[in-house]
Amino acid sequence: CADSAMYHAKESGRNNYQFFTTELNVRAQHRYALETNLRRALTENEFLVYYQPKISLSTSRIVGAEALMRWQMPDVGLVPPNEFIPISEEIGLILPLGRWILRQACLQTQLWRQQYSPDLVISVNISPKQFQDPGLPKYIEQVLQEVGLPPTALQLEITEGLLMGDIDLLLPVFDAIKKLGISISLDDFGTGFSSLSYLQRFPIDNLKIDRSFIREIPDNQDSVILTHAIIAMANALGMSVTAEGVEKADQMFFLADSGCQEMQGFYFSQPLPVDKFEKLLSDNVR
Ligand code: C2E
Ligand code: MG
Ligand code: MG
Ligand code: MG
Repeated sequence: CADSAMYHAKESGRNNYQFFTTELNVRAQHRYALETNLRRALTENEFLVYYQPKISLSTSRIVGAEALMRWQMPDVGLVPPNEFIPISEEIGLILPLGRWILRQACLQTQLWRQQYSPDLVISVNISPKQFQDPGLPKYIEQVLQEVGLPPTALQLEITEGLLMGDIDLLLPVFDAIKKLGISISLDDFGTGFSSLSYLQRFPIDNLKIDRSFIREIPDNQDSVILTHAIIAMANALGMSVTAEGVEKADQMFFLADSGCQEMQGFYFSQPLPVDKFEKLLSDNVR
C-alpha cells in the first residue's frame, strides 16, 4: 500500500523515489479501473441483494431479514460489500446504489409478506452519506407508496459514526424518518467511538450488538457481562435488541435468557439469494 511504500522510501533514502511513484501509479490505475467498473455495474444490473434472516428468540421464527448487497462481477464472481461499499461512498455512487437496494428490498419484502409472512420486517443498511442526503425521506416515502409496503415493515440500519456528525443537520432527517413510521437500528453497537448520550439524543428503536461481543460468548466473562448490560440498558430505555454473528447454540441460549429479542447469524443461516431465502420462509410458515 502507499503507506508502506512511503515507509520504505523513507527507510532507504531518496533512491526509492522511482519505486514509490510506480507503486502509486499502479494503485491509481487499479483504483480507476475499479471505479469505472463500479459505475458500469449499476447500469448493467450487476448488483444483487442477499437476505439474512432475523429470528425471534421467543418464538424461534423468522421475523425479519437484513438486505445485504453483493456484486456479481463478470468473470470474477461474487464480490462482498466491504470491497466496494467504501469506494462507492467516496465517489458518491452510494447514493444511486443505496436507493436501488432500498427499492429492491422493499419490493421483494412486499411479495414475501403477501405470500408467506405478513409481518416480515426488512432491514436496509444506510451509509452516512445517504443519511445526509436531504432527499432520502421523500424517496423512502415514494418507494413505500409505490410498493404498498407499510412503514412499520421497514427498518434502517445506521452506524455509530454517523451520530458524531452535525446534530443540527441530522435531527431533521431523523424526525422526517420517524414521522414516516420507520424504525431505526444502531448497527455494530459497541464498536464505534460512540457515547451513550447519543441514545438520548436520537430516536433509536433497536440496538444491534456487534459480532465481536457475541463471538466471545460464553467463554469470555467480560463479553458476557457487557452483553448482559447492553441488553438490560436497551430494554430499560424501551429499545429492542438484536444480536449479530450468532454462530453457536450456547450463544443463542445465553441471549434468550438475557432478554435479547432477536438474533441473526450463521447458526441459523448465512445471507441467502432470493430463491433460498424463500425456501426458508415457506418452511417457516408450516
Ligand atoms: P453489517 O451491516 O454489520 O452486516 C452483517 C455482516 O455480518 C454481513 O456481512 C453478514 O454476512 C455477516 N454475518 C452475519 N452473520 C454472521 C455470522 O454468524 N458470522 C460471521 N462471521 N459473519 C456474519 P456482509 O454481507 O459481507 O456485509 C458487510 C458489511 O457491508 C455490512 O455489515 C454493512 O456494513 C455493509 N453493507 C452490506 N450491504 C450494504 C448496503 O446495501 N448498503 C450499505 N451502506 N452497506 C452495506
Ligand atoms: Mg447491518
Ligand atoms: Mg452489523
Ligand atoms: Mg458488523
